[in-house]
Amino acid sequence: MQQTVQLQPAEAYVPPKFNVYQHRQIDKIEQLHQLPEHLRFEMRVVANVFPFRVNNYVIEELIDWDKVPNDPVFQLTFPQRGMLDDESYEQMAALLKREHTPEEVFELATQLRQKLNPHPAGQMDKNVPTFEGEQVEGIQHKYKETVLFFPAQGQYCHSYCTFCFRWAQFVGKATRFNNNDEELLHNYLAEHKEVTDLLMTGGDPMVMRTVKLRKYLEALKEPRFDHIKTIRIGTKSLTFWPFRYVTDPDAQDLLALLKELVDAGKHVSIMAHVNHKQELRTDISREAIKLIRKTGAQIRTQAPLLNNLNVDSDMWAEMWKEQTQMGMIPYYMFIERDTGAKRYFELPLYKTWEIFRDAYKQVSGVSRTVRGPSMSAGPGKVEVSGVTEIAGEKVFVLRFIQARNPEWVQRPFFAKYDEEATWLDGLVPAFGEEKFFWQEEYEAM
Ligand SMILES: *Cc1c(COP(=O)(O)O)cnc(C)c1O
Repeated sequence: MQQTVQLQPAEAYVPPKFNVYQHRQIDKIEQLHQLPEHLRFEMRVVANVFPFRVNNYVIEELIDWDKVPNDPVFQLTFPQRGMLDDESYEQMAALLKREHTPEEVFELATQLRQKLNPHPAGQMDKNVPTFEGEQVEGIQHKYKETVLFFPAQGQYCHSYCTFCFRWAQFVGKATRFNNNDEELLHNYLAEHKEVTDLLMTGGDPMVMRTVKLRKYLEALKEPRFDHIKTIRIGTKSLTFWPFRYVTDPDAQDLLALLKELVDAGKHVSIMAHVNHKQELRTDISREAIKLIRKTGAQIRTQAPLLNNLNVDSDMWAEMWKEQTQMGMIPYYMFIERDTGAKRYFELPLYKTWEIFRDAYKQVSGVSRTVRGPSMSAGPGKVEVSGVTEIAGEKVFVLRFIQARNPEWVQRPFFAKYDEEATWLDGLVPAFGEEKFFWQEEYEAM
């Protein structure tokens, strides 16, 4: 007899009304009125360039307003002056101070965004596959075994993170990443037997209603998809809108969908973005975690290390320990990508390694599933494995965790130590070499 798993929440949680504030509504957020006017003006200036979106749950439950502006979740969701260089900031501030039309603001914003490397790591052209001679929009296929899918209805989030490397698709007009066509996804996957993992991403697929998610995922139970072993769903909802799993009208159906996929033999993993342990402090997020775990799905956690936000190895260690205790699997610590507000969030590479190491050494083996610090760069995911001295030369030890060519993976390589370097393109090979071993091949791709 089939056992039924009880997927109901432990108590009757009452969901708050879902309110979203975007950049034109910044001044409607009551809590901001306790801040000095010049801070609010700075926010309005910056919010015209970067996407801004925050919901009432994040405002009311996750931010400690008496710690603002230093509160990590405030930093994670509200625009900050330091995200723009002085020149860009002054241009936008001057425009807002004089009479202006929305078109003028949009035009200047578009111009300023161009300076912010909106599409890093060759996202727009290098990873888009073709199917039957046509470019398949909405799919990225960079690493052999994993296909990324961007469902059209999932191209936004409940709230936006200020550091998000997908920021460019949340501003301006139509985005290029979208694809309404589940058949195209299914056909692509059916044709590609080398693919074992589907990674649903966005935006955030968990902003979609369950009926839509079902259209994409249910079919994967069919025998023609036996090669798809793992279904991952990347999301911020676990901490920014945990009601998705507990009290939303289709929460039960969502949990049922996850369970059906697990029962059909798939490994289902929620890839949860958690930047700070403060995000996990509410009862509702803990309830969401429990319910997801009951379906047999796993939860893996990942986040970048961000200046002004989570540069604290003890916090990371505690967060990984807590996550492990709650049944989640720490997965990645990323290095802030070379896009958007990176000037505000980036750290020197040597520093990222120190923070990672000081956190990693504090946790037991069960939490050392976490990998990093890792750069998602054009050629692949490059881990800063360490800093050391070899034959009298101080070097970074690096390795590919993932690479465009699987042959590059796990081969250590070396770059000259440089305290200023914050990204792969700021590194040069050590020992007088002209190029890294993978470089020529990458440039020819
Ligand atoms: C990170 C990433 C993946 C997944 O890599 P894993 O190491 O399997 O987690 C897949 N595709 C792209 C483009 C990525 O950046």
